[in-house]
Amino acid sequence: MKCPHCGNRKSVDLDIHSNGFTSEEFPVKECGECGLVWRVKMEAGEAKLDIIKPAAKK
Ligand SMILES: [Zn+2]
Repeated sequence: MKCPHCGNRKSVDLDIHSNGFTSEEFPVKECGECGLVWRVKMEAGEAKLDIIKPAAKK
């Protein structure tokens, strides 16, 4: 999936169950380029962006 911040496509799925996130229904992604951590939630049939960690400043 494309990064919503920088558009990079090298995002990776994070397995962060141990951190208390429920990532089964809405997988958490991390951008390999800017460090943004996000997931896309479906609410009322609409995709909603949920930013978990802002992009790292360079
Ligand atoms: Zn990015």
